[in-house]
Amino acid sequence: MAEVSVVRHSGYDAGVNASVAEAVGLLGGMSAFVRPGQRILIKPNLLAKAAPGQAVTTHPAVVEAVIELVLAAGGRPLIADSPGGPFSRGALAAVYRTCGLAEVAERTGAELNYDTSSVTVNHPGGHMLKRLDLIKVVRDVDAVITLPKLKTHLLTTFTGATKILFGVVPGLTKVNYHSRLDDLDQFSEMLIDILDVVKPVLHIMDGIVGMEGAGPRHGRPRPVGVLIAGANAAAVDAAACALIGCAPSLVQPLMAAVRRGYWDGRMESIRILGLPLADATLTDFHLPVTAGRRFFGNMPWLRPFIRKNFNPRPAPRADLCTGCGTCLENCPGKAITIRGKKAVVDEKLCLRCYCCHELCPSAAVALAFPPLGRLLGGLGG
Ligand code: SF4
Ligand code: SF4
Repeated sequence: MAEVSVVRHSGYDAGVNASVAEAVGLLGGMSAFVRPGQRILIKPNLLAKAAPGQAVTTHPAVVEAVIELVLAAGGRPLIADSPGGPFSRGALAAVYRTCGLAEVAERTGAELNYDTSSVTVNHPGGHMLKRLDLIKVVRDVDAVITLPKLKTHLLTTFTGATKILFGVVPGLTKVNYHSRLDDLDQFSEMLIDILDVVKPVLHIMDGIVGMEGAGPRHGRPRPVGVLIAGANAAAVDAAACALIGCAPSLVQPLMAAVRRGYWDGRMESIRILGLPLADATLTDFHLPVTAGRRFFGNMPWLRPFIRKNFNPRPAPRADLCTGCGTCLENCPGKAITIRGKKAVVDEKLCLRCYCCHELCPSAAVALAFPPLGRLLGGLGG
């Protein structure tokens, strides 16, 4: 039976260290996952250059608390991720600085990864990819601990431990994978291929302040008041989903993890340690679920109908767009052009992956709903 610990904590004060230690302690303590001398890759969600208060990235206080535990267990922590956009030294430095991790590294002595090389890993058992391009440092460490942020996601409804490892696909290779696997089920299976290869030893989710609405970048910060930890990514996500009232069937990466045997889909098969889920459940957490998805679920044969009638299309706003080209660079459908210094989307080519919405630094990509979708409530609240 998978074990997941849940600990209540509000705010990113000095007490975070004790709460993270409690969450890991309920699972047997960090020495159950880290041996002395091991080099441990700490993988936060560093989607983009965003200040900690925006709830886009894993809060530095949580990262610092985990680093302290790894150090106390005799491990050698290394912070690494490949944020959206190009995987370059300059981009990494800016993300580390803005997300508060440069200071964490300075205070704790943890290493920040600047190696931007990649490695191709054979995965004969992969369902979608038999060869995976990953950031090389994943192969250079002894173990990986992920620190997902509890957030909504326009494409996958929720993003947590089963999706976070998309961030070890280097830079713009993510665009290639999105483009090759534009069906959501296929994309989700690919995420589990990565999980199979990387095999993190532990996941510690920052749900102290999560994100609701149009996540993972431009939703609203929402205090959830919990830390969630476990060795099984699907079980951690299932617990998080239960806390925010999100049916697992709405989260395709989680469903792919069920198909692949990470979880049997029943909450009874997860042992919750610490705070009972019922004591922390939110009943008004806003999930980005269109009426089409609510009424018709994820039936493959209905997807074209749902897409046409319910799903929003990205609509760059001329008044906010700076013409920076970030969306164009990251568009798997090659649907974006810049005309007169403004982004324009070709709706026929658009895959509705919402990478442009996610990565636009100016929050210039609005969501435009078809009439039926708008009439029935847009994203659902
Ligand atoms: S929509 Fe956003 S990302 Fe795209 S060009 Fe405009 S400002 Fe840049
Ligand atoms: S226009 Fe936006 S939503 Fe459409 S394929 Fe490109 S990045 Fe994805």
